[in-house]
Amino acid sequence: MNNIPKSFKEIKTLLDSGNLTCEKLVMQYLDNIKEQKDLNVFITLFERESVLRAAEIDKKIKSGNAGRLAGAVFSIKDVISVKDSLLTCGSKMLSNFESVYDATAVERLIKEDAIIIGKVNCDEFAMGSSNENSYYGPVKNPIDITRVPGGSSGASAVSVAANMCLMSLGSETGGSIRQPSSFCGITGLKASYGRISRFGLVAFASSFDSIGIFGNNNYDIAAALEVIAGADEKDSTSSDVYVDNYAENSELKLDPEKVSIGYIKEYFEKGLDEEIKAGILNKIDSLKQKGFKVKEISLPNTRYLIQTYYILTCAEASSNLSRYDGVRYGLRAENSSALEAMYVNTRSEGFGEEVKRRIMLGTYVLSAGYYDAYYRKGQKVRRLIMNDFDNAFRKVDFIISPTTPTTAFRLGEKLDDPLAMYLNDIYTVSANLAGIPAISVPAGRDKNNLPYGIQIMGKKFDESGLLRMWNEI
Ligand code: GLN
Repeated sequence: MNNIPKSFKEIKTLLDSGNLTCEKLVMQYLDNIKEQKDLNVFITLFERESVLRAAEIDKKIKSGNAGRLAGAVFSIKDVISVKDSLLTCGSKMLSNFESVYDATAVERLIKEDAIIIGKVNCDEFAMGSSNENSYYGPVKNPIDITRVPGGSSGASAVSVAANMCLMSLGSETGGSIRQPSSFCGITGLKASYGRISRFGLVAFASSFDSIGIFGNNNYDIAAALEVIAGADEKDSTSSDVYVDNYAENSELKLDPEKVSIGYIKEYFEKGLDEEIKAGILNKIDSLKQKGFKVKEISLPNTRYLIQTYYILTCAEASSNLSRYDGVRYGLRAENSSALEAMYVNTRSEGFGEEVKRRIMLGTYVLSAGYYDAYYRKGQKVRRLIMNDFDNAFRKVDFIISPTTPTTAFRLGEKLDDPLAMYLNDIYTVSANLAGIPAISVPAGRDKNNLPYGIQIMGKKFDESGLLRMWNEI
C-alpha cells in the first residue's frame, strides 16, 4: 500500500515543490485500489483517463495556472453523472446506462482541476444503510472486512478511508454520508438543502436529496465545498445564498464564550450503545471545559422521525422511479408479448428487493384511500419537526449528538429485518427532514476498535460555522 498523505494541503506542498507529480499520485492511488479489490469499491475505474488528465494538470501546475483543486483526486458515487461513463445507481436497471452530461458538482470540480478516478458502488438508488443492496455486490469495511461500511454511500467512505483517493462525492437523503463516515472513521458533510446543485444527481426523494463530501479533515472538505456550492440555473431548488470562503474560514477559531451548543435529550434515551454514549458525553464535557456553553435541549417530535422519513421518502421515490419503464432508460426485459407486460417484466427484473419494497410502500401511502392518513399527515409532522429545530436554534448555535446508535454491524446481520436496518438512521434523518447542514466527525473507537462519529448540526446555510466547530471536537 502506498502511504499517500491524507491531507490536501500536504499533497499541494509536495506538488508545488516538485517532490510529487499528479501523474505519480494517481498511479499510487490506482495501486491502492488494485491491492484492495476485495473491498468491492469501484464500479467503473477511469484508469487511463485519470493518468492522462493528471499529466495535463502537472503541466498547468508547472506553468502556474492550475485551478484551486489541482492535486485533489476524487471518487464519485455512482448516482452522480459523469459524462460518457456508466451511471448504474448500483442497479441492474441502469447497468447499461451511460450519462450524457456531467452533474453540476462534477463539472465544477473538473473546472478547478480536480481529478476523477472512478465511479463507486452504493446501495441501489441510494436506498440502504449498509451498502448490501447493490446489484454489484456488498462493499466491505476496511477496518474489519466482516462488517458493513454503512450506506448508502458506503464505497465513497471506503475509498477515502482506504486511501484510494483523497475525497469523494456522495449523496444523502437520510444519512448516507454521515453514517458511513462514522462506520469508517472519516469525516463527511451533508450541506443545507439547496447549497449544492442536484443537477445530475439521480433522484431518490427530491425534497431530501443532496450531494455531499467525504474527506479526512475539515479544510479539505471546505475547499471542495467552496468549489461545488452555489446557485445553478439547472436546479431551481439550488440556493443563491452567498458562498463563503469556506476553506479560509474553516481555520478560524471560534470564541467559546460566544457559542452555545445543545445536546438532544431524546437522542440519549434508548437504543444507544453504551460505549458510544460514554464517548459522546465525554466530548460534551471537554467542550464545557473549553468554555462553550452547553445545554440540554428537547426535540419533542423525535419519536416520529423514522416513520415520517420513510413515509415521505418512499412516496417521493415511488414517483421518481416510475420513469424506469423499459422505454426511456436502461434495461428492457426481453420476450414480453405486450406493452404492459414489458413494463411489469422490466421493473420486476431490473429492481432489487429493497427498491421494490419502497416503491410499494410509497405507492400505498400515496393511494387515494390512504393519502390523507399517511402522506398528508407525514407532511404535517415534517413541519413540526422543522419547528422543533427552529425553536432549538433560537437557543443554541449548534446541536451535537451521536451519528449512529451502534458501530459497524456484520455483513448480513440486518438484511432480513428492514426495520432494524431503518433504525440505524435514527439520528441522521432529522437534518434531511429539516434541510439543515450536518457533519459527522470521528469521535472514538469501541472495544472492538471500531470507529464511531459525533454529529454536529447547524443553522441552515451556516456551513462555515459548522466547519469551524469541527476544530473543537
Ligand atoms: N439509510 C437511509 C435510507 O435507506 C438513507 C439513505 C440515503 O441517505 N440515501 O433511506
